[in-house]
Amino acid sequence: MTQGKFLMVGAGLSGAVIGRHLAEAGHQVTVVDSRDHIGGNCHTRRDADTGVMVHVYGPHIFHTDDAEVWDYVNGFETFKPYKNRVKTTSQDAAGKRQVFSLPVNLHTINQFFDKTMRPDEARAFITQEQADTSIADPQTFEEQAMRFVGRELYEAFFKGYTIKQWGCQPSELPASILKRLPVRFNYDDNYFFHKYQGMPENGYTAMIGKILDHPGLTVKLETVFDRAQTGEYDHVFYSGPLDGYFGYELGRLGYRTLDFERFTYDGDYQGCAVMNYGEQEVPYTRITEHKHFSPWEDHAGSVCYREFSRAAEPGDIPYYPIRQVAEKALLGDYVKLSEATKGVTFVGRLGTYRYLDMDVTIREALDTAVEFVGHWTAGTAMPAFQSAPL
Ligand code: UDP
Repeated sequence: MTQGKFLMVGAGLSGAVIGRHLAEAGHQVTVVDSRDHIGGNCHTRRDADTGVMVHVYGPHIFHTDDAEVWDYVNGFETFKPYKNRVKTTSQDAAGKRQVFSLPVNLHTINQFFDKTMRPDEARAFITQEQADTSIADPQTFEEQAMRFVGRELYEAFFKGYTIKQWGCQPSELPASILKRLPVRFNYDDNYFFHKYQGMPENGYTAMIGKILDHPGLTVKLETVFDRAQTGEYDHVFYSGPLDGYFGYELGRLGYRTLDFERFTYDGDYQGCAVMNYGEQEVPYTRITEHKHFSPWEDHAGSVCYREFSRAAEPGDIPYYPIRQVAEKALLGDYVKLSEATKGVTFVGRLGTYRYLDMDVTIREALDTAVEFVGHWTAGTAMPAFQSAPL
């Protein structure tokens, strides 16, 4: 087999997982990242003041139903049991400000309406008295909420939060965003319903560092990729923003970026890792208290982030692809460009402009790498390799 020379642009999950697989297959892999650390937006770092492991770019909780992906991450780092239990501060049906449990569950419903319903009663109450069952096939975020929880719960928990998070009306967003969250008629307050859930004992950066730790793999930080370098490699895997690869020549795809206002507290600030704020008047979407992401550690001090969302401007770190109607048309044009670009595969949340969770990112990276190596070993001709499905 001829040894290939490959470049990964981005030292996040996609670049690390694909790079590792190619290195294990005997190829020579270089991973570049413009930042001064590996891990992309999963990057974790111990806070100098408090010793707390901080999720520098916002909370990342690992959850999956994919046993192979779960085994893969556990092969590099010990995962400690962790259940994501999110709270939200908002106003109940009578306008009283309270702390509620998320995702919307029987506790949330009973507390919000000041009732003591059992599961069947709550289900009947929501479906018959709250939900707008005239919406047969919800298309937008708002329709999805109106159809499954009704106006009152929608306005208290989703409307204000979503306007803050996405900077537009929920009627302009796809239903798929809300479909991420379940509604439960029992007291299960586990935010995710996946079989496996946990937190890497020493943080995501330690885990990704171990994935990248292979003799066939070289990592270069603070190294900005230039499209002109593509010809120096047999193939490039690009996990940066799709529009950025093409120098934004067709225009900019919309992303939301986040600003974090860090503060420390002597003790336990909010008693949980994530407190959302449903009211639109509160300018931030949520406060994260990072020591609660590592409940097996003990810290007297605490470090918290108030999280503000806004439209990403040139130079900002993109976090969430918006994918509204306008972006979808432009995205289609960029996809055509990417498919006509030989020798480059676009991967990951930014490279394919999708709202991907970590487990899906790893699954796609593994599949991409396996398929690629298969083609490479089978012959010398480069496969007509397409970007990941969009
Ligand atoms: N959401 C909301 N209220 C909440 C939590 C979430 O309206 O208290 C909406 C919001 O639009 C968000 C989406 O549901 O973008 C998906 O939530 P998730 O917790 O999956 O968002 P992430 O953690 O990825 O930011």
